[in-house]
Amino acid sequence: MSSSAEREKFRVAICGGGIGGLTLAVVLGNSNCSVDLYESESEITTVGAGISLFARATEIMQELGLLDELSDLATQPPQPNTGPRFRKADQTVDNVWFQKIFIAGPLHLHRRDLIDVLLRHIPPTTRVHLNKKMTSWFQDASGSIHMQFADASSSEADVLVGADGIRSVTRRCMYRAMAKKSEDESSDIPSPLRRYVDPLWTGILAYRSLIPMEKLKGIQPDAAGAKVITYHLVTYPVARGQFLNVVIFCHVPDAFDTAFPYPGRWVADVEAEEVAEIVKRFAHWEPEVQTVLQAVERPSRWALHIVRKLPHFVSGSTAILGDAAHAMEPHFGAGAAQAIEDAFILGRLLSHNLTSKSNIEAALRVYETIRLPFAQDVVQASQNVGRLLTFKSPANDGTYLPHQTVNELDGIRHMIEDEWEWQNSKGSVLEWERAERKLRELLS
Ligand SMILES: Cc1cc2nc3c(=O)[nH]c(=O)nc-3n(C[C@H](O)[C@H](O)[C@H](O)COP(=O)(O)OP(=O)(O)OC[C@H]3O[C@@H](n4cnc5c(N)ncnc54)[C@H](O)[C@@H]3O)c2cc1C
Repeated sequence: MSSSAEREKFRVAICGGGIGGLTLAVVLGNSNCSVDLYESESEITTVGAGISLFARATEIMQELGLLDELSDLATQPPQPNTGPRFRKADQTVDNVWFQKIFIAGPLHLHRRDLIDVLLRHIPPTTRVHLNKKMTSWFQDASGSIHMQFADASSSEADVLVGADGIRSVTRRCMYRAMAKKSEDESSDIPSPLRRYVDPLWTGILAYRSLIPMEKLKGIQPDAAGAKVITYHLVTYPVARGQFLNVVIFCHVPDAFDTAFPYPGRWVADVEAEEVAEIVKRFAHWEPEVQTVLQAVERPSRWALHIVRKLPHFVSGSTAILGDAAHAMEPHFGAGAAQAIEDAFILGRLLSHNLTSKSNIEAALRVYETIRLPFAQDVVQASQNVGRLLTFKSPANDGTYLPHQTVNELDGIRHMIEDEWEWQNSKGSVLEWERAERKLRELLS
């Protein structure tokens, strides 16, 4: 084998330059894989505003040597024994509910800052291709993966990682191909695998906005949550405390997994009349909420969709990660962090010295074994918390839990705290050690 062939283990194509794809490129940075990252947009950018990283993700950032840089850009470095405060803000007195304490409080960042730090750490050997929208892919009998792009160009790789978000083309092609194979084998009976191609509508609209902090004199900057039936509101400071990140959640009754009824894009700018209509609905809430809502300017409206519980994150030499694999409701602020965990485990497996072109599929199977159950538990727990925050039963049977007395609210509080406990500790590096042991068992 020539020395250059030894250095170039195999070709990895990453589809998507969001937080998951960029993290994977950073993790693969020190490996001898040949890495191409394809991004459909004309620049690496991000929609959305604030982002919170809890202990499991900051542990990974520490491993990657990025934590100090991120801490400098955060509102404050992770603080011990702190966490979001919950308020029953639809009443003007006695509205302090509880505070969820984390051993290491979250790092609140502006998304742009996180993207910029990741970009700075992608090695120059990684080829980043902009304006490259993948439209389809297939794996041939020799194992090579062929990708087609919207500009009529094509490319080849030995591994394809779909980090292309909730509407992932990688996932769509993967599940269409798996469904077709099963239909070919069973006299064209429609395969249940087709239901995994498209995401489902959660029935939740999230209005997101950044408010310059100077417009909010007198507001306690870390007042975090205000909850009530049908609506709830989350606020936290970002960008070294210069802005307050505000998300207003409107839960449309009985809309979970129904046809998406709103025309236009899932993420849209909101007209002034719609903002005024929302503000009206909060008229009887506590004064701090009124002050925040009066300061909201042209928020964006996100129609929240999620990915169904997939049976696989991997097919042949293709894997999906992040929102492509497990887009979730955002009540934990954990979607990007789960993409980071996927990228960390997958990147380390692919760059491991036991992994080579001939055993890529085994490495991908380890990724799926480790990450699929964990990420899907987080998706379910986040959905449960979303329901509890509006005092609904997590069973999704439309019933409300009693929530009038202190004891009743305490019961709901404990359910929320239990669902959230997984985020209270580190564990990403331990998860990697488990993955490495499995890889060794399979390949040694
Ligand atoms: C209201 C709200 C609040 C949230 N708050 C938090 C939070 O506080 N903390 C947190 O951890 N998470 C949060 N999330 C979740 C988080 O935003 C996502 O989970 C995260 O962005 C997923 O990252 P990703 O890289 O998997 O996908 P994305 O960020 O969607 O990136 C996908 C990338 O792929 C590109 N792409 C798409 N299709 C193609 C194609 N065909 N070819 C090439 N490129 C393509 C896109 O342009 C994009 O750059 C929140 C989500 C919402 C809706």
